[in-house]
This record gives sequence, structure tokens and C-alpha cells, in this order.
Amino acid sequence: MVKRNPHVAKLKDSYLFETVEQRKQDFLAKHPQVTLINLGIGDFVHPLPKSVAAGLSAMAENLSTPSGFKGYGPKEGDKKLRCRIADVLYSQRVAPEEIQISDGILPSLGRLQVLLGANTIIAVQELSYPAYVDTAVVIGQSFDFDQNTQRYGRIVYMKGSAKSPFFPDFSDVPRIDVIYLCSPNNPTGIAATKEQLTELVAFARDRKVIIVYDAAYSSYIRDSEIPKSIYEIEGANDVAIELGSFSKMAGFTGVRLGWSVVPKTLRYDDGTPISSDWSNVYSRLFNGASNIAQAGGLAVLSSKGQEECRQLTDNYLKNARSLKDALSSMGHQCFGGIHCPYVWTHFPGCSSWEAFDNILENAHIVTIPGIGFGPSGEGFLRFSGFNDASKVEQAIENLSAFLT
Ligand code: PLP
Repeated sequence: MVKRNPHVAKLKDSYLFETVEQRKQDFLAKHPQVTLINLGIGDFVHPLPKSVAAGLSAMAENLSTPSGFKGYGPKEGDKKLRCRIADVLYSQRVAPEEIQISDGILPSLGRLQVLLGANTIIAVQELSYPAYVDTAVVIGQSFDFDQNTQRYGRIVYMKGSAKSPFFPDFSDVPRIDVIYLCSPNNPTGIAATKEQLTELVAFARDRKVIIVYDAAYSSYIRDSEIPKSIYEIEGANDVAIELGSFSKMAGFTGVRLGWSVVPKTLRYDDGTPISSDWSNVYSRLFNGASNIAQAGGLAVLSSKGQEECRQLTDNYLKNARSLKDALSSMGHQCFGGIHCPYVWTHFPGCSSWEAFDNILENAHIVTIPGIGFGPSGEGFLRFSGFNDASKVEQAIENLSAFLT
């Protein structure tokens, strides 16, 4: 029989969301009369905008006609969509030829790991989306898991400083090859400032490190002073890859559509452009994004689609803001929730699972315990604004009855 792949065997079970679900079910089994409010959601809860659905269905209809049928498309994606992304989302800071259309950020992370290989040393923010580490572990980039530190041996976890507890302190980073950074961040909800990203790019240029910049939540940034893309920082085109997605911009978590940007000026140490290897890897591992999803992407990037998606994301931001204001007024230190639908809330003196159970049992709200995102998430809960405003209002009433 085939031997088990030792790298896959190293993956830790994704216990976080399963445990949350189990505790929720156990609570409901004991209290069937209670209606829980779910503020743990990391996904749209509202339907797609009408103009976007029309774009998707027009393409599906076209495919049923002799003149409109299309089979395999270009692996890098529809040219019109790549031009629209370069225009609408990057104001031409990157060229359409530097953009590859994908089926979302998560699958692109896996393909990127194949591109960069198992011999690179990677660094992640101390609190971050777990997929950066998981995809690295799968291809064998880590040493064994250390039970004491709850860490993988060769992966560097960048801690924050006293001034910015959740942004990496680059003065303290050993030799690395690749940095994964997400802004606005999941789980903390914090958007990095221009100064912080300038510091990141300077560090990467100085230390010859590649940045993989996850911009999944960039469409929630409302302040023009806060960069939506790493390419707003001078010099980033020589050191950064950016991953983008329609998931949280337009509710495409099920439709599946995203993109990557690998600038032509980004090179290996021997001067070879990384973009040509990326095209090679891409075309061998991926047969192109669905043409229906790409038609939907074009509809999202039309002026009507942008307006309708903005209304939806505005609602989630408003919910997050109300939660942040309410929790702060109840004496809890809160982060994020301004340019991101997540509010990262401190519950001093208890573990994040204790805080989770307290809020579940007494305020009837489901949250996500911070410890699931890394050891410095202990004592924190992630509250999400992805819900109906009426449910968020009810949640705030429940919280204030319990916490004040
Ligand atoms: N990046 C971050 C930071 C996320 O939080 C998520 C999903 O929650 C993703 C990427 C996944 O994006 P996609 O749906 O495009 O695969």
C-alpha cells in the first residue's frame, strides 16, 4: 500500500469551526427555546446584487446557443476582465498582463506554494488566516509541530510591537524568504496604514524577501489614506505578489472568482522574472476560472455592480461599527471594525473559550474564540458584522443586558 504523505499527516485538524458548531449544538439541545444570533460568520448573508446575477445568467444562457458556446478559455483568464480589474481596482498601477484570474485566494495560495517550493522559509503575522501555514505545511515547508509553542518548526511567526500589537515588528525577524500579510486583517479587522506598509516594503527590499499580500477585504476600506493594494506603496512592484478575491467584495464565496498579480519586475535572485514561472505553474495546475463566474466578475466591476456591492458591504461595516461602539462602551478594548467587518474584542481575565461560552450562554450569541488564530489570540473574541442589521441590534441588546 502507498505510505501516507508525512506532510499531509502533519496538518492539524481544523477543530476551531467544528468545535464552535458543536458547542452551539450542545447549547441548543439543552435550550431548544433559545434563538441564537450568529456573529461568527465570515461570509455574506445577503443574496447577490441583481445586476451581478444578471451577468451570471446571461453568460449561462449564451452558453446554450451555438454562437455563444465557449469551452476552455485562456488559462490566465478573460482579457476584458483582467483589463477591468487593472482599471477599476488598481487604477492602472498594474498591467492586465500581470493579472491572472483564479477561482479565489485559497486555491491560489496552494498554487503559490508549489511555485515557491518547500525550501523557502516563510513568515506569517502572529494572528492571521490559517491557510498561509496550512498550505505551507502540505508541501513540506515546515518542521514538526511543537506542542509547547503550538508552532511549526521552520515557519516564523512575526509578533507585533508595544506600539502596534498586531502589526509585525520587523526589527525582530530572522532570515526569511517570503512574508504573508493580510490587510485588512482576518481576524483582527485592522487595516495597515500607509506608513506600516511602507515599512514592510522597505524591509522586503532590504532583505530580498517576497511579500504575498492578501487583499481579500480591501473593498471594505473607506479611507483614501489607507492603501487598498500593496502597489500603492512605491517600490512594491519589485517585491510583492498580491492576491485578490470577489468573495468578500461581492458575495462570490460560492461562485468562486479571484485573481493574482505578479508584476513583471518581480524577479528571483538570478534575475529570472517570477511571472514566467507563475504562468507555467498556473497553466499546469489550473484550467482557467469558470466563464460564468468571470462574466459575473465583469458585472461586479460595472458601475451598477460596484454601487450595489458597496451598499452590501456598507451594511456589514455599519454592523461592525455598531458592535465596536457597543462593546467599547461596555468597557471592552476593541480593534478593527472600521475598514473590515470584524471586531477583535478583549475579554481580560478569561480564556477565549471561556469568553465564548459566557457570551453563548448568557447573551445567546455565537462568536469565534481568538485562540483559534494563534496563541496571542487568547482572551479575545472575533465578532463579525456579516449579518442582518436587526440581528446585530438584537445582539447588542443581549450583550448590554449581560455585560453592563
Ligand atoms: N483570505 C482571507 C484573509 C480570508 O479571510 C479568506 C476567507 O475567509 C480568504 C482569503 C479566502 O478567500 P477565497 O474565498 O477567495 O478563497
